[in-house]
This record gives sequence, structure tokens and C-alpha cells, in this order.
Amino acid sequence: MSTIADNIALVSARIRAAAQASQRDESSVRLLAVSKTKPAAALREAYAAGLRDFGENYLQEALGKQAELGDLPLSWHFIGPIQSNKTRAIAENFAWVHSVDRLKIAQRLSEQRPADLPPLNICIQVNVSGEASKSGCTPADLPALASAISALPRLKLRGLMAIPEPTEDRAAQDAAFAAVRRLNESLDLPTDTLSMGMSHDLEAAIAQGATWVRIGTALFGARDYGQP
Ligand SMILES: *Cc1c(COP(=O)(O)O)cnc(C)c1O
Repeated sequence: MSTIADNIALVSARIRAAAQASQRDESSVRLLAVSKTKPAAALREAYAAGLRDFGENYLQEALGKQAELGDLPLSWHFIGPIQSNKTRAIAENFAWVHSVDRLKIAQRLSEQRPADLPPLNICIQVNVSGEASKSGCTPADLPALASAISALPRLKLRGLMAIPEPTEDRAAQDAAFAAVRRLNESLDLPTDTLSMGMSHDLEAAIAQGATWVRIGTALFGARDYGQP
């Protein structure tokens, strides 16, 4: 059976090959370990093998692991849907939020970000798959949302996040990620981040400019209960 360290080596090799294939510096693509449903021991193993950034979708689950792993210098990313009543705990306990798709949530995160922490890094989740996905703002709503978020004092707008409709068709993967890249370029804002690419499509995402790939299954194995 492969260990998490073996899996990290395999995923890192995929990232390296994909970066080389598009003449990108490998260090411009960072690996976010998506650890939802996995126990703290798995994250500890990933940490021992060199990973520092972990993405979680469910607040209570994430807070439990943060408490168990408080001895490690980890960077926590919230990547799941956000309800208004969860914003305070997210603002207090995460370094990044990848899944902001409406202004009300961003305003609360900014108001609730503790003064002694650096600004919260934000990606706007954009829906490039139309009706196939309910999460994410529409491309039409993006410019106004991005400009409003960039003005919030305790947030730092870093860029866009997307979860295109899953497909094994490389051309369709490329088209979806290229759409995200073009939307980011069309914003007249100093963004530096494209959070896109998962276990099955990281190569296409990197070809289209991903700076964070969010990888769960390829690192930790299949999840025991459903994907959100
Ligand atoms: C679960 C999840 C991932 C990881 O997906 P895998 O296919 O397991 O790599 C990435 N991003 C988000 C937002 C997720 O919810």
C-alpha cells in the first residue's frame, strides 16, 4: 500500500512535469493538501513529508483538527461553501478562504478578521460551468464583486478559484481553466492567484496558469463519505 509520502512524491512529479510542459517555473505552482474527512494523523504524516498548507471544507471538522495539530506550524485554507453564521470562526482560524462568492460573506469576514492577524487572503469562487454548479459567482457578477472585495480593509484579494464540471476530456478541462484565467486577466486588479485543479485535472489547470492546485484523493486516497 502506498503511503502519504509516496503519494506526495507522485503528485509533486505530476506538478513538475506539467509545469515543465508549459515552460512554467515549478515553484509557481503550490500544492494545497485537501484533507476533508481525513484524520489529524494523516495531516501529521503529510506535514512530516513536507506539506504545510491544508484545505478543509467543513468548519467543525477543521477546528477539531486545528486543535489536535496545534503544535505544528500549518497554514489553513477554507475551501467549502460558507454560511453567514460561520464567518467569524473562519476569519479567526484560517489564513486563506478560496470559496467567497458573495459580498455579504466577504464583508463579514473583513469585519470579523482579528486585528492581530494579517489580512485574510481571499479567492473569489467563480462558476464557469453554468448550471452544472450552484457555487460560485457568475462571470457577469465577478467584476463588481472583485472590486468591492478589493476595497475591504481586512481582506487581501488574491485571485480566483474554480471547480469546473468534472470531465476526463483534456480539451474541455483546458477550455474551462482558460476561461478562469481570462476572467482573472480581465479584472483590473493586482491578483496573483489562480486556485484551480484537483486530483483528476491538475495538468490542465497548470497549463492554464494555476498557482494553487487543491489535491485530496491523489494524496490521501478515496474519501469514506461523499464529496460535497
Ligand atoms: C474535495 C475538494 C478538492 C479535492 O478534490 P480531489 O478530487 O479529491 O483531489 C479540491 N477542491 C475542493 C473545493 C474540494 O471540495
